[in-house]
Amino acid sequence: MIVVMKAGSPEAEVTRVAQELGEWGLIPEKIVGKHKVVLGLVGDTVDLDPLQIQEVSPWIEQVLRVEQPFKRASREYRHGEGSTVVVSTPGGLVHIGENHPVVIVAGPCSVENEEMIVETARRVKAAGAQFLRGGAYKPRTSPYAFQGHGESALGLLAAAREATGLGIITEVMDTADMEKVGEFADVLQVGARNMHNFSLLKKVGAQPKPVLLKRGMSATIEEWLMAAEYILAAGNPNVILCERGIRTFDRQYARNTLDLSVLPVLRSLTHLPIMIDPSHGTGRAEYVPAMAMAAIAAGTDSLMIEVHPNPAKALSDGPQSLTPERFDRLVKELSVIGKAIERWPQPEAALA
Ligand code: PEP
Ligand code: MN
Repeated sequence: MIVVMKAGSPEAEVTRVAQELGEWGLIPEKIVGKHKVVLGLVGDTVDLDPLQIQEVSPWIEQVLRVEQPFKRASREYRHGEGSTVVVSTPGGLVHIGENHPVVIVAGPCSVENEEMIVETARRVKAAGAQFLRGGAYKPRTSPYAFQGHGESALGLLAAAREATGLGIITEVMDTADMEKVGEFADVLQVGARNMHNFSLLKKVGAQPKPVLLKRGMSATIEEWLMAAEYILAAGNPNVILCERGIRTFDRQYARNTLDLSVLPVLRSLTHLPIMIDPSHGTGRAEYVPAMAMAAIAAGTDSLMIEVHPNPAKALSDGPQSLTPERFDRLVKELSVIGKAIERWPQPEAALA
């Protein structure tokens, strides 16, 4: 349920209403929007009569029920306003959300060695990326495939961060590694295979770094939003949703089916920022540019693109990785669409 306070409601009155509703056994969360203050109420609201809540204060404008099973993630919970995830990076604050320029995340699938990660970081930064991505802990289908260099790769990401000022996004696979990964990452990635790992979701929800939540390979949009709800419910409001393709019946030509229809669908259902990953979404470097362009045209807030200095030699996901040269050209191509929809320039406007 949400309680919409009238514009200009005195702060003390909002606090009093929140306190009173707290005494009713509800958990009120104050959300300050552009125009109004909203109190989100989570708890057992089934038997509550909205009119009874309305009586609590003459400053209450409206009491509305959130019909979806995902409450904090729902767009109604913020009274229709999109949220912005603000990430602190050495290069400044980066804003990710529907009212900001498109943010670009790029880098290799796995961190392989210092030279390649620092070189890739420099190249993607020069092209216009704000974040470097790179896996230290890799969720691989085969136990015999390269599993990532683990802790030592985190140190290499730190070197790349230091050299470029880019923010770092890297995956946390296991609750046991969370603190360590949190020391190096500016945003923690929860991968597709872990979207249903509720213990991990609760843990990342209880730590302070923003979380990038990838869609499970066969997850419905509702399951994905309920996974986000776990993180929000544990106290972390900074969640970005990343579409990375869903399992396809036709693997002959593409690794996954990139579901770009999530853009308008999520926009109507949730306030959370959206990222599109056309690299895992298609599995082929040659298809990435077209889908990246389409994602920007369809309103994505952010893109994640795999880039490797020598894709043919990559230890993971080489076939879907762009060379730094192709990435540089792609960002220029993207800028045409980004400008047309007034979500460019890049990268200055994303930094404040
Ligand atoms: C990745 O980002 O390299 C990755 C493993 O992604 P996903 O979880 O989407 O497969
Ligand atoms: Mn990958």
